[in-house]
Amino acid sequence: MLTIDGSHNEGGGQILRTALALSLVTQTPFRIEKIRAGRKKPGLLRQHLTAVKAAAEIGRATVSGDAIGSQELTFTPRAVEPGDYKFAIGTAGSTTLVLQTVLPALMRASKPSRLTIEGGTHNASAPPYEFIAKSFVPLANRMGAQIEATITRYGFFPAGGGQIVVSIEPSKSWQVLDLTKRGVSLGRQGRAIIANLSCDIGQRELKAVAAKLSWDPACLQVEQVESHGPGNVILLEVEHEHITEVFVGFGERGLPAESVAEHVVQEARRYLASDVAVGEYLADQLLLPLALGKGGAYRTYPLSRHAQTNIHTIQQFLDVPIRVTSEGSRACRIEICA
Ligand code: ATP
Repeated sequence: MLTIDGSHNEGGGQILRTALALSLVTQTPFRIEKIRAGRKKPGLLRQHLTAVKAAAEIGRATVSGDAIGSQELTFTPRAVEPGDYKFAIGTAGSTTLVLQTVLPALMRASKPSRLTIEGGTHNASAPPYEFIAKSFVPLANRMGAQIEATITRYGFFPAGGGQIVVSIEPSKSWQVLDLTKRGVSLGRQGRAIIANLSCDIGQRELKAVAAKLSWDPACLQVEQVESHGPGNVILLEVEHEHITEVFVGFGERGLPAESVAEHVVQEARRYLASDVAVGEYLADQLLLPLALGKGGAYRTYPLSRHAQTNIHTIQQFLDVPIRVTSEGSRACRIEICA
């Protein structure tokens, strides 16, 4: 049984999610110790526990240590069973991180699957739904899978209650992914999403975005959505020939609309001022599908600790070279020779 150190480098929940994903794919049993030791509140939170339970159900696995707060877990998969599954987190914990855990195995399964995941759809420190739908999924589909993601209800912290539905047609043949260039600019779009709050908040956010980025107000819109509780995010989508990046700013009680805008503007500005194709978050999320598919290459910012930790976890399960070449202080090139 493989032993994984959950405190390695960043010591966050990604070590667990990546280990679960790769255990399913490679059918390698593992034991993880010091789960999320690098976090203020170590051990399994409800979102991580749902990911463990989802992986266990899909992988017909035997698990021990699967309890809230647990810092140690063993996971022994038996066989990946594609099918129709529903997972409810029960809090506003991130639905997209549960998806991230089971998607790689289902992308390689023998039959299609359909997942319904309930919880948060727009959580701080997790991919918002639109990032998955517009940025990640099109790239996974280019690698060979056929994934379709829809949102049926928005879920924000703390009320949750959101729902995403994802259908997955496994890949029949994998393609190499080349994201060394972003290609020509195809457009930009900004949306302020508002649930059970005044539309004025969204209008102020977009006014600040338009002023700071000099974007045409015609490509910015406020959208009111249904949700169990109040919520607000700004999403900026930057579309190029080979890739769409999605940047998010989270509204918070007491945080002025202009400050929410400022945060997301900074992320978009950094990307637009650079020439890398892949932004910070996608850089850590592409590692696993590329290592499991036919590999590929991409240019991104200097790697985050999160991405470095993810490479380390992947290399404990897979014998796939992942080469990181620095290109000065602003960029690096990742090559995965699967
Ligand atoms: P925790 O221990 O609290 O669970 P963690 O290690 O799981 O933390 P984070 O560093 O918070 O995780 O990141 C989780 C995942 O969410 C990563 O794959 C990261 O790329 C993704 N992510 C975080 N913020 C964004 C964002 N703004 N847009 C897209 N993806 C994001």
